[in-house]
Amino acid sequence: MPMPADFTAEQQQRYQALFEQMRKFPTPFDRKTTDYHAKLGLTTADLPLLLALTRDEDYLEAEEPDDFFATLHAAYALGEYRDEAASRAMIEWVLQDIAYGCDESIYEYLDMFAPEGVFHLPFLLEAAQQQHDDDARDVLISAASSVAQQHKEVRDEVVGVLLDMLKPYATQERFYNALLLMSLLPLKPVEHVDFIRKLYAEKAVDMTACGDIEDVEIYLGLRNKRTTPKPDYMLMDMAHEHGGVAELVAGGVKIGRNDPCPCGSGKKYKKCCMP
Ligand SMILES: [Zn+2]
Repeated sequence: MPMPADFTAEQQQRYQALFEQMRKFPTPFDRKTTDYHAKLGLTTADLPLLLALTRDEDYLEAEEPDDFFATLHAAYALGEYRDEAASRAMIEWVLQDIAYGCDESIYEYLDMFAPEGVFHLPFLLEAAQQQHDDDARDVLISAASSVAQQHKEVRDEVVGVLLDMLKPYATQERFYNALLLMSLLPLKPVEHVDFIRKLYAEKAVDMTACGDIEDVEIYLGLRNKRTTPKPDYMLMDMAHEHGGVAELVAGGVKIGRNDPCPCGSGKKYKKCCMP
């Protein structure tokens, strides 16, 4: 098992003991059973041990789920310290997990930052803004949104950061803009709806993520029901990627005469782009 070579014999023993205790804990997704400090008798002397445990490659790559979960428990335990190094280590743990390809469970981990309050927020936002990998950035942004959903006092701050990240929308991937919007919408940014309408009007958002502007307005409570038939967003997006409905059809895609036109007009195909 790799642990830092400079650990004293006493630290090595404690490291092993912490690991053995944590691998017997219930799966870490049940956040009701925490308070690691009380359960493990943690002190500041354990901080470097937990940091090392979150990076222990033997356990991160372990076949045995309990071994792997011990590293996640270590990350949760770090959260309770409310310490900058610990917070950064948790973020690294999440990024590492994405790098190891465990992304199907990644959304389960978002809430690891929220219960400890707003302490982690500055580090999450900083890491998100520095991150170049789309998946990793999306998880960090979603985690920041999750903190803001549970702690209203930082809602405006997170909305502001997400809007800043959306400002260069014209030069960003449409799917990335949609991911930003997906983190923004649960914060009910009703006061910024004109900006969101502009994003849609300029076709800067991939609609497979949050639907069209009517869906967004309904979600924000600004509209009761749709006035146009609900489009097939996959088709609309494909039409956009192909450069138009005619190009989509030329590429072999079939569109029903009475289906909503994939150009997004809200009219039936036969009354819109059908030749
Ligand atoms: Zn059309």
